[in-house]
Amino acid sequence: MTDEMTSERAMQLEDQYGAHDYHPLPVVLAKGEGVFLWDVEGKRYYDFLSAYSAVNQGHCHPKLVQAMTEQAQTLTLTSRAFFNDVLGPYSEYITKLFGYDKMLPMNTGAEGVETAIKLTRKWAYEVKGIPENQAQIIVCEKNFHGRTTTIISFSSDAGSHNNFGPHTPGFIRIPYNDLEALDEALKLPNIAGFLVEPIQGEAGVYVPDDGYLKGAYDLCQKHGALFIADEIQTGIGRTGKMLACDHEGVKPDILILGKALSGGFYPISCALADDQIMDVIRPGQHGSTFGGNPMAAKIAITALDIIKDEKLAENAERLGNIFRKRMNQFITKNDIVKSVRGKGLLNAVVINDTEDSETAWNICLKLRDNGLLAKPTHGNIIRFAPPLVMTEEQIHECCDIIEKTISDF
Ligand code: PLP
Repeated sequence: MTDEMTSERAMQLEDQYGAHDYHPLPVVLAKGEGVFLWDVEGKRYYDFLSAYSAVNQGHCHPKLVQAMTEQAQTLTLTSRAFFNDVLGPYSEYITKLFGYDKMLPMNTGAEGVETAIKLTRKWAYEVKGIPENQAQIIVCEKNFHGRTTTIISFSSDAGSHNNFGPHTPGFIRIPYNDLEALDEALKLPNIAGFLVEPIQGEAGVYVPDDGYLKGAYDLCQKHGALFIADEIQTGIGRTGKMLACDHEGVKPDILILGKALSGGFYPISCALADDQIMDVIRPGQHGSTFGGNPMAAKIAITALDIIKDEKLAENAERLGNIFRKRMNQFITKNDIVKSVRGKGLLNAVVINDTEDSETAWNICLKLRDNGLLAKPTHGNIIRFAPPLVMTEEQIHECCDIIEKTISDF
């Protein structure tokens, strides 16, 4: 079937038979390896999205292909009705790696966030002593934590939120990167926790001020609320450390991981916490048919091994510095790019235009023509997040492509 497939045909089929819940850049991908993707016609591109930071280890990493293939030929799914021989070793591995007592395995990122919300509420009632059904969780303006009904209930993005009500109550929204607002909100009654992205990825790669995460953690400690970090996009080496919270030496009370926990092979997410929190969940109160299956467990162990063995966090730190240095120099020579921001290899370039403009989209089309795939997060913001297996020579080549494309624009 792929032999006869053209880009045009693939796009037409998706458009006709698929729900229009995404607006993809017009390129039809058929193959990936490391930092590269190829379209149906065989044209090669640098990937600068990494499937929204799920493919930190690079496309089709051979060790992940091997681990998945071997496990697929052995045992894939038992459900949690029984034990399996990989979930135990995976649980031990990941809890020791991140320094927690226990891990709860799920599949998508949104499920990881739902897990953290349920843990926080139950902890609030059973440990903190908040009256039943009164718990409040503080969240931030412009947050992105996924697409479930509860999560979009506290989204400030109209497209995500509107006309999906009635919305789930129990959330208080405050500005991001504002410790004073957090301090005030934490003084309100029945606060159970604070859910935050260490860098707001989908909002446009907003990096908070140095000291924000530590300050927020300390405030939560002071007020007896849980500090819950959604590291689904920022975790697993992306920002130059294993976790973005590591930049400030913060250990969240609940840590949520997803995306690159699988290296892009399979939906794998989890919540990590110590016993005082995790033990509030008893059999039958939470779970998922696929969560913690042996194939996911094997893939996650391998995906984490790759980040450590290949020193991908360190590489992200080094190449991110090169990228931002090049872009900052470039800014001085043109007036199309307003600023560049980011940490490690999670970066965004802000275009000198209004938020509702089409400029970022049009630049992404030209980047595609020049062999580099990136996607706007908003009308004037382009996220640049390549797989972490990129080399120094490649990042320079990519900066050349970006600079040339924008200069010609
Ligand atoms: N949380 C953050 C910070 C994310 O960036 C995302 C996805 O982009 C999610 C949660 C949701 O993950 P998923 O799409 O796997 O449900």
